[in-house]
Amino acid sequence: MNCLFCEIANKKIASFKVWENEDFLAFLDIAPINPGHVLLIPKKHTKDVFSLSDDVYDKIFQIAKKIVKPLKKATLAKKIGLVVEGFGVPHAHIHLVPTYKGNELNPERAKKASSADLKKMQKILLNSFKHL
Ligand SMILES: [Zn+2]
Repeated sequence: MNCLFCEIANKKIASFKVWENEDFLAFLDIAPINPGHVLLIPKKHTKDVFSLSDDVYDKIFQIAKKIVKPLKKATLAKKIGLVVEGFGVPHAHIHLVPTYKGNELNPERAKKASSADLKKMQKILLNSFKHL
C-alpha cells in the first residue's frame, strides 16, 4: 500500500520535520496556507482522525494543543487554526495553520513554498518545539 504519510513517517520520503515522538510526527505542509502550516500525524496508519482509537485521538489533540503556543509565538500569528478535512491524503492528519485575520483557512490559498523558505521555517520551528 502506498500511503504518502506512512512513507514520511517511516522516513522513506523526506519531510520538513519539526517535531516527533515515538508515535506522532509533525512536519511542514509543503503547500502552506500561511508559512508555518504544520501537519500532525500518528505514525501508525489510520485512515482518518475520527477512526483513531480514543487513546490516540486524545493524544493527538493534546499534542496539537502543545504545539499551538510555540507555533503562534514563532510565526507571530494572531490565532492558530485547526483543520481536519482529510480529502488530500487517506492517513489521519491535523492541520495547524497560523492565521492573522479571519477566513484564511481556505485550501485554495495554499501555495507551494520554496525549499529555502521551508528549510528556514523548519529551523525556526525545530527550535521552538524542542521542549515539547
Ligand atoms: Zn498511512
